[in-house]
Amino acid sequence: MKRREKVEIETKENNEIQNSVSVETNSLDNIVPYGDYHTHTIFSDGQNTLEENIQHAIQIGLKEYAVTDHGFKHRSAGITYANFQVQRRQIELFKEKYPQIKLYHTVEANLMGYSGLLDIEDYKNQLDFLQMGYHITAANESFATWWTFTAMNYIFRPSQKKIEKNTLAYLRCIDRYDLKFVNHLNYGILINAKEIAKACVERGTKIELNGKRVYFTQQEVDDMLETGVDFVVNSDAHRSENVGNVSVGIEFAKTHNIPFEKIVNLNKSLFDN
Ligand SMILES: [Zn+2]
Ligand SMILES: [Zn+2]
Repeated sequence: MKRREKVEIETKENNEIQNSVSVETNSLDNIVPYGDYHTHTIFSDGQNTLEENIQHAIQIGLKEYAVTDHGFKHRSAGITYANFQVQRRQIELFKEKYPQIKLYHTVEANLMGYSGLLDIEDYKNQLDFLQMGYHITAANESFATWWTFTAMNYIFRPSQKKIEKNTLAYLRCIDRYDLKFVNHLNYGILINAKEIAKACVERGTKIELNGKRVYFTQQEVDDMLETGVDFVVNSDAHRSENVGNVSVGIEFAKTHNIPFEKIVNLNKSLFDN
């Protein structure tokens, strides 16, 4: 068990404390959030089992943990419907076995096209919460959508008009579903971050600072902060040893002046917001 202690994280400017938030750490530079809500297991492209992930989450002191294997229509790594049901039963067992941590079960849903539809329609009532992202490897609604939405965005640098159309897909999705957060924006498809942030504010949806990749310019960060949107840091762990490791998102927040108060899961639950 690693040592845990409370430290005060401060941003100081002109000798004044601009913001401070008390967070749990297991070393002086490794912040452990309250909960990690984006992780993978061997049921998608992760390297470890659900139980190994949970055990690591407990070991580092997470209070909440969500397993979010890739959604059903991810071509190379989507969880199968059968394994989803297996995982559902596992989660119920582990809730009893590990009462010291609160567990959630969902998938990393895939945006399928300009309609804003996710690949979870038949299963959305079985998911503990909704989170979504765009993956180039996810199936689309039709071949025509694959060509315009996936292939064209991949092959060519999108025009401003195309970026606005991509953004519209996200806006429709945010409007259609009760999403807790949208993940790794600008990964694989360029969008207008400010417009998405505005929609997120209206719907109470957070924007993820992903544990593997954060693709925002400083201008985009400034634009998003102006809307008042909140953020969540997650690991996107594909190995149990990375569960709860949100150092990439924390470092991004520090270097791009995102106040820690705007990151909702540092010292309280994502579901308390
Ligand atoms: Zn992803
Ligand atoms: Zn992921």
